[in-house]
Amino acid sequence: MQAFLTLIEDNIMAAVSTTDLKNFIFNDPESGKHCRIDLHSHTSCSDGGLTPSELIDRAVNFQLDVLAITDHDTVSALAIAGNYIKEKKLALKLINGIEISTAWQGFEIHIVGLNINTDNQTLITLIENQQKLREQRAITIGEKLTKCGFTDVYEKAKTMAGAGSITRAHFAKVLFQQGHVATMQKAFDKYIGKGKRAYVKPNWCSIEEAVDVIHAAGGSAVMAHPIRYDLSAKWLRRLIVQFKADGGDALEIVLPQMAPQQRELMLNYCLEYDLQASMGSDFHYPSKWSDLGRNLTMPEKAQPVWAQWKS
Ligand code: AMP
Ligand code: MN
Ligand code: MN
Ligand code: MN
Repeated sequence: MQAFLTLIEDNIMAAVSTTDLKNFIFNDPESGKHCRIDLHSHTSCSDGGLTPSELIDRAVNFQLDVLAITDHDTVSALAIAGNYIKEKKLALKLINGIEISTAWQGFEIHIVGLNINTDNQTLITLIENQQKLREQRAITIGEKLTKCGFTDVYEKAKTMAGAGSITRAHFAKVLFQQGHVATMQKAFDKYIGKGKRAYVKPNWCSIEEAVDVIHAAGGSAVMAHPIRYDLSAKWLRRLIVQFKADGGDALEIVLPQMAPQQRELMLNYCLEYDLQASMGSDFHYPSKWSDLGRNLTMPEKAQPVWAQWKS
């Protein structure tokens, strides 16, 4: 009897493996908990170190089942990555994503859109606008860095970003490469971080606008890495209340490096405010501390963001 049951089980597992994975996950969210899922990652189309196809290869090598690419204010990696998966017939489900920078009470809050339709005109218009803001901010950062005595940083950052989104990470890398700072983090701490000499207050869209645009594009709106905003408990709660009031769907409650109390706290926010949960590595480039899909497990009590997705 036991052998017979095992045989049935094996057949079921064979039936749902690889090609049917997409339907398996989305029709049965519980089973999705046993897949390797990473819903936050970057490519060289923004400030990631790997090209879209290199990122896909890494995800396959790490045996991920589902990967969302969520570049800063751009979707240009998605078609490249999608075509690469098709061409190579890879057993990886790609989720179309974006990470939108928003301004809230003087803080920069990142809203991730998942499972979006990249052809949506409202989304395309928002991206164009955010790209203009990025370009203007980059020019002003460059001017401020010139006043700090560093020349050509804007030009070098622009060349490094190429056709992709220009970010402060590019400036940090140039300052590091030119020997003006000992690490990229120091570039933020000394010059381009909030309140520092070359910081430029951005005019990003509001949280509400980002959520509305993600919904218009058929996606789920997720507050990225709530634990990383350096907010007091009071302000974090305010932010979550605002996000919920603006129609936000989920909090990214599972990140690679979290203390158990942080995990508990984030899960409780989801339960208290009836928000779904997402998880992602925020992978930018290989490092000692985190990698694609590593240390990501959805808590039992959470309602996974992918439970709503149809395909
Ligand atoms: P931006 O969206 O142009 O403001 O660029 C911010 C990006 O720089 C983030 O997405 C991170 O990848 C990177 N970064 C690294 N260290 C820091 C830091 N201390 N503060 C903000 N951003 C950082
Ligand atoms: Mn980044
Ligand atoms: Mn972010
Ligand atoms: Mn990110």
